[in-house]
Amino acid sequence: MMVDEFDVVVIGGGHAGIEAALASARMGAKTVMFVLNADSIGQMSCNPAIGGIAKGIVVREIDTLGGEMAKAIDATGIQFKMLNTRKGKAVWSPRAQADKKLYREYMKKVCENQENLYIKQDEVVDILVKDNKVVGVKTRLGLEYKAKAVVVTTGTFLNGTIYIGDKVFRGGRAWEPPSEGLSEFYKRNGFTLLRFKTGTPARLDKRTIDFSALEVAPGDDPPPKFSFWTDPVGTYWFSKGKPQVNCWITYTTPKTHEIIRKNLHRTALYGGLIKGIGPRYCPSIEDKVVKFPDKERHQIFLEPEGWDTIEIYPNGLSTSLPEEIQWELYRSIPGLEKVELIRPAYAIEYDVVPPTELYPTLETKKIRGLFHAGNFNGTTGYEEAAGQGILAGINAALRAFGKEPIYLRRDESYIGIMVDDLTTKGVLEPYRLFTSRSEYRLYLRQDNAILRLAHIGYNLGLLSEEQYKLVKELKKEIESWMEFYKSVKVAVAIGSDVRSYTPSQLLTSERSIEDIKELGFEIPEHPYVKEEVEIELKYEPYIERERKLNEKLKKLEDVRIPEDIDYDKIPSLTNEAKEKLKRFRPITVGQASRIDGITPATITALLAYLGKLD
Ligand code: FAD
Repeated sequence: MMVDEFDVVVIGGGHAGIEAALASARMGAKTVMFVLNADSIGQMSCNPAIGGIAKGIVVREIDTLGGEMAKAIDATGIQFKMLNTRKGKAVWSPRAQADKKLYREYMKKVCENQENLYIKQDEVVDILVKDNKVVGVKTRLGLEYKAKAVVVTTGTFLNGTIYIGDKVFRGGRAWEPPSEGLSEFYKRNGFTLLRFKTGTPARLDKRTIDFSALEVAPGDDPPPKFSFWTDPVGTYWFSKGKPQVNCWITYTTPKTHEIIRKNLHRTALYGGLIKGIGPRYCPSIEDKVVKFPDKERHQIFLEPEGWDTIEIYPNGLSTSLPEEIQWELYRSIPGLEKVELIRPAYAIEYDVVPPTELYPTLETKKIRGLFHAGNFNGTTGYEEAAGQGILAGINAALRAFGKEPIYLRRDESYIGIMVDDLTTKGVLEPYRLFTSRSEYRLYLRQDNAILRLAHIGYNLGLLSEEQYKLVKELKKEIESWMEFYKSVKVAVAIGSDVRSYTPSQLLTSERSIEDIKELGFEIPEHPYVKEEVEIELKYEPYIERERKLNEKLKKLEDVRIPEDIDYDKIPSLTNEAKEKLKRFRPITVGQASRIDGITPATITALLAYLGKLD
């Protein structure tokens, strides 16, 4: 029975579902979000943090496309850091610890207050299709809703199975039911289903941890923010006005490793219960001990889950060992000798559909109007999910309006890199973003997300006239300062040497824009303009070199790889790259570049080894 009609149905209220539903509703499409539990909208299933290497850049891209994740973490973050600051600014990336409960409440409130967006707590068990086009969905209680487009973002819930040692039960996340009906729909329509797995550590009782001997990891001052629109508008730095919380660092011990080795057969994975493929980049502690037997200790971050909670997230300690062994394991770590566990660690296995079923618009090739985003596409991480979610939501709304879809190019965004990787290479294991996946690393930076993508957000109606006007003004100001800095020359004494220099010649890795001021030049007043002029001028020659190298790489597609190549002899290849190249034995560089997990950085190293990069 058709009970209601919507332009767009979004299945899921996780990080992908939220951005999809908000983007669609904000573009004017009558949108409904179905969620298994309305109180869990925006729930962080695993670590209470947003951002990180490459991921933080994606959050700023989402912000520029009119998304919510950046604003949510700015409002609910308890510790902010800029990662990689020891390296060049091209690889900096913001990360923040969230107050998990406040983050969820913030997201629920935003969804509740969004015009055109309706929320329904119900399980979608079937997607209705006619003539290879989506026409609606059906819920567990038998109600049917008409829709022009459907976005599926079931995360870890589809056919979810939870493992704690040999205890196995159905669930989509700890103590939440799985989603069951939709797998049937996919099988019936000829989609392949893969089985992936992931895991989360136990949550610890802060009152039972001895922090006295542990290393403190404080936040940054000033803290980086994620949204260009959080006060002060027009920069990426802010003041939280409240002291940030500390995190702490500890390490596993030889005793920890011994406990793991002794009980390996009791883990769900090594005991043979789990068949799904786990995330290479968020391995369980047992995986780390098995894969790196010579490593004496593994670093663990103890991260508070909020301002007012005693729960601590031990980052790096995910496991599927039985709960009683988890106690033993955790208590073998300095500071945790008397620790009490609040929630046990567990692993989860769930269904995903290979993303090669999708166009780069995230619409399925088989069924028009059906879009997929998030963990359901085989990715891992909140930011990856949200980045796909916003793109899928935009295109679902465009589909509902009968308009042309959009896609994001590799050379303009990390979201574009991720979607291109997913839809052309597919996934053999949970996919996570890294800067090494990008051949445009120097250009796709956290600081210039707003300059790269604001026109897209504005053209879709997701950034306001006023917001776009500000971006255009700042861009113009940056360009005119850059021009000025390349043209004006002033005699400068460096030591006893007096010569004429342009400011752009003087900006080196050792010299900042503030030093230029000391040398007698005027500098921009606006903090964002000042920062951008400095970064852009410093990186301009390198970005040009990067562009030329990319052109060259494209022409080298057909370079043959000798059959007897010894990948172990190629310097700078990661273990992952070696393992995959040995397994697939590609015969050309082009073929190698299309293997999941083979990054542009690997291809450059391979070409250099083959003597093709002079
Ligand atoms: P989710 O956040 O899982 O949201 C799915 C949503 O879909 C939920 O709102 C659910 O109610 C809804 N839903 C599902 N089916 C239906 C249906 N049929 N009808 C209606 N609603 C439905 N990520 C990492 O990066 N690193 C990690 O180490 C890591 N570990 C994890 C460990 C565990 C145990 C879990 C559960 C997740 C872990 N994650 C980890 C993954 C992280 O949770 C996801 O990356 C992220 O939440 C994905 O967002 P999503 O929107 O795709 O899905």
